[in-house]
Amino acid sequence: MYYPEPIENLIINLMKLPGIGRKTATRLAFFLLNSDESYISELSRSLTDIKDKIRLCSVCYNLTEKDPCQICSDERRDRDTLCVVEEPSHMMVIEASYPNRYRYHILHGVINPLDGIGPDDIHINELKLRIEKENIKEIIVATNPNIEGNTTAHYISEILKGSQVRITRIAFGIPIGGDIIYTDSQTIKSSIENRKDL
Ligand SMILES: [Zn+2]
Repeated sequence: MYYPEPIENLIINLMKLPGIGRKTATRLAFFLLNSDESYISELSRSLTDIKDKIRLCSVCYNLTEKDPCQICSDERRDRDTLCVVEEPSHMMVIEASYPNRYRYHILHGVINPLDGIGPDDIHINELKLRIEKENIKEIIVATNPNIEGNTTAHYISEILKGSQVRITRIAFGIPIGGDIIYTDSQTIKSSIENRKDL
């Protein structure tokens, strides 16, 4: 027993979203079915707008409406340093802690041989060119502390060997407000390795 086709189609399309199973998709579909016409048109417009109006900044690969993006056009920001991140959402997190301070380079992924993603599939070569062109003094590699993030960080440091740029990696350790007793051994090791003078 199926719902009428338009409802079934909506359910199937919602199920393509990450983390949405048939049950949730059905609930969402009925929510939409019972929503005002105005909300439905606003939602459809938002969906078409992300495809029509959003593109990647040609400098940093941030998502933007205008090129270069707001961040690349912001003169207040440090011109010597680039923060290298995996995704635009990661950039937003750093930006929330250091408003208007850094400029970024967004890789849009990490090297992941198991998924067939190599260096040419993310914006690493563009990073190298950019460092030369903009005479960058330091890059802060802020990829995640997992196998793919570390592999990517290592690859970046390899291809930049011999260049003058200082390459730093964000530190990994016990979270602020955390407790040593609840910390896994990998994190403890990382905390010891990344220790600082008092
Ligand atoms: Zn940009």
